[in-house]
Amino acid sequence: MNIKENTLYLLNELPIEVQLVAVSKTKSNMDILESYEAGQRIFGENRVQEMTRKHEVLPKDIQWHMIGHVQSNKVKYMAPFVALIHGVDSLKLLKEINKQALKNNRVINCLLQVHIAKESTKFGLSNMECIEALTAAESLKNITIKGLMGMATFTDDHNQVGQEFDGLKQLYDQLAKKYSKFEILSMGMSGDYQIAIDKGSNMIRVGSKIFGERNY
Ligand SMILES: *Cc1c(COP(=O)(O)O)cnc(C)c1O
Repeated sequence: MNIKENTLYLLNELPIEVQLVAVSKTKSNMDILESYEAGQRIFGENRVQEMTRKHEVLPKDIQWHMIGHVQSNKVKYMAPFVALIHGVDSLKLLKEINKQALKNNRVINCLLQVHIAKESTKFGLSNMECIEALTAAESLKNITIKGLMGMATFTDDHNQVGQEFDGLKQLYDQLAKKYSKFEILSMGMSGDYQIAIDKGSNMIRVGSKIFGERNY
């Protein structure tokens, strides 16, 4: 695996309106630095403690995105530095992020995770719950909900994946009319980012296509 080349390839290939989150979960600091050398500055992690450890030692101009499912009691560790939290799926979590952001004198950017896959194992809000959470969050001054995130079903059926992304894009467009801060639609991973971009994604989260397969 040549991490630097893989990163350069992706950065060159992507339309300019699409941001790349390099998903570095389980990967070493050395691996991250190789991608950094190619110009990559946004890295995504799915465990708060791992992200915090990496943040402490890696260059300070890296923007750290939390892409995993977050437990409320872990928010305080990342609140001082996290740039965007993708996987917010409850009002309880939004309230905790708001509280910890206030303590750090920050406004923390969040995405609501919407359940679009047919699989029942993936996390996320229904469309209705998403709308309810947005309304309820209007009083929370230390968070900004920047948009939506979703994960399609893990399948080779491109039609199905395309339909799931289409549905999320429609919800996003509908909400963006009302919420002027909406600007991020995070969808697409190594296996489906081309479909996601066709369907209107402007932020993709790519791990194995940059860093190679994960062993654990
Ligand atoms: C691991 C992960 C990714 C990246 O997956 P790859 O298939 O390795 O690109 C993207 N999004 C989320 C939420 C993840 O947990």
